[in-house]
Amino acid sequence: MRIRLSGVWLVGVAVACLGPSVAWAQGASSKPPMPAAAKARPAARPPSANKKAAVALVEQQRADMIRTSDAIWGFAETALRETRSAAAIADYAEQHGFTVERGVAGMPTAFVASYGSGRPVIGILAEYDALPGISQKVSTTKETLVEGAAGQGCGHNLFGTVSLGAAVAVKELIAGGKLKGTVRLYGTPAEERLGGKIYMIRDGRFRDDDVVLAWHPGDETKAEFEGFQANIQFVVEFQGRTAHAAADPWNGRSAADAAELYTHGINMLREHVKPSVRMHYTVQKAGDVPNVIPDYARVLTWLRDSKRAGVDDIFARVQDIAKGAALMAGVQHTLKIEAGFTDMAILETGSRLIHDNLTWLGPPTYTEEEEAFARALQQATGKEPKGMLAAAQPIKPIPPDPPGGSSDVGDVSWIAPTLHFSVATAPKDVPWHAWPVVAASGMSIGHKGMMLAATTLAATAVDLYENAALRDAIRAEWAEKTKGVTYRWYIPEGPPPVPDSK
Ligand SMILES: [Zn+2]
Repeated sequence: MRIRLSGVWLVGVAVACLGPSVAWAQGASSKPPMPAAAKARPAARPPSANKKAAVALVEQQRADMIRTSDAIWGFAETALRETRSAAAIADYAEQHGFTVERGVAGMPTAFVASYGSGRPVIGILAEYDALPGISQKVSTTKETLVEGAAGQGCGHNLFGTVSLGAAVAVKELIAGGKLKGTVRLYGTPAEERLGGKIYMIRDGRFRDDDVVLAWHPGDETKAEFEGFQANIQFVVEFQGRTAHAAADPWNGRSAADAAELYTHGINMLREHVKPSVRMHYTVQKAGDVPNVIPDYARVLTWLRDSKRAGVDDIFARVQDIAKGAALMAGVQHTLKIEAGFTDMAILETGSRLIHDNLTWLGPPTYTEEEEAFARALQQATGKEPKGMLAAAQPIKPIPPDPPGGSSDVGDVSWIAPTLHFSVATAPKDVPWHAWPVVAASGMSIGHKGMMLAATTLAATAVDLYENAALRDAIRAEWAEKTKGVTYRWYIPEGPPPVPDSK
């Protein structure tokens, strides 16, 4: 599907419609055949020998995992620049017997590491990208490590390493003849900006996975009962005409004016959207000096809502706002979609399984130094100094609207049954995507969460390999949740553009 928008460009008295383009690609995917429905939740089993072995195999990698996680924390590479981070994970998998396919889906930092053969196929997602501009030392006060550099403010150094450790543990059990099937570790870049997983979906990945497993660092430990918001990410550019801002301003058409009108329009719209909607933008460029009328402005905009349909509604309105802003300022505009993430199909059967494993494994024990570090981060950011909250949170009903935040894990959940959970790797309530999370992700608080997440992932994978009825129940629930839904992706045609930010 293609959409075209029109902008106007005033030249003297002539008005020319130049029709700037909005380039986006949407694709649809078909689903594999479903097994017979099996709705009842299989009874929790006592941990099998393989499950205990998987936990031990993760524990044996503790030193390697800390080394890998800390290395990726130090690299702090942003979307599609994660060369060393991806290599650290892919190389370790290769050294442990995985076959590694690199440069997947046109992304040099995407890979798929596989081991074993036949069914079931269990996929495990790994992320490793950092966020620009939040470099931070392991410290309880805000202290930049490298000026202007990125930081692991979402804990993706832990994310990627956990998935690696769990995949290697599963591989050892397959190699030893204890489990049958295939394990696939997906190296999925650019979660923070472009959604590397969506390009991998377009490339045909995930479709034959029986179950996909993923986790995320958090300030609480919980199986997934909330999900993610859908979003759309796009760039609006305004092209005007420069002139001397004092001597002959009548000859100018200000792109900065259009950007202001556009963002003002979005802020007026805020009153008339549902509480579940989030709209945010950054003005990335709007001129250099006040005495030159800016002929170019660029606004990066993200819109979110609980479901894809809600995002599409708001997006249509914001497209009109961009058009109106260009008309009022007498400039031309273009709108280009960069990405769009989908909400998540939450599978209660799988989330309960993960909850059981989190409960069985239990939270980490923190030293007094670690608790003091956590409280200091909370105090430094004006939060109640509660320390760490790492015990598994109780199961709760799935709410109609997920809390704020989006992930391309949501997209994968429409391609294959996807189970997700969070583990506390940072103190409760500290600002996310911010320096306290960078600090906690690079020290023992992060490492302890990492080990709980990796053992939980490995234990859950063993359950799935050993229990066909459980896999069938998960797939049946997924078939029900995704019935009648045609998944569409929101990415530009061609390979993903590497974002400007370092
Ligand atoms: Zn993240």
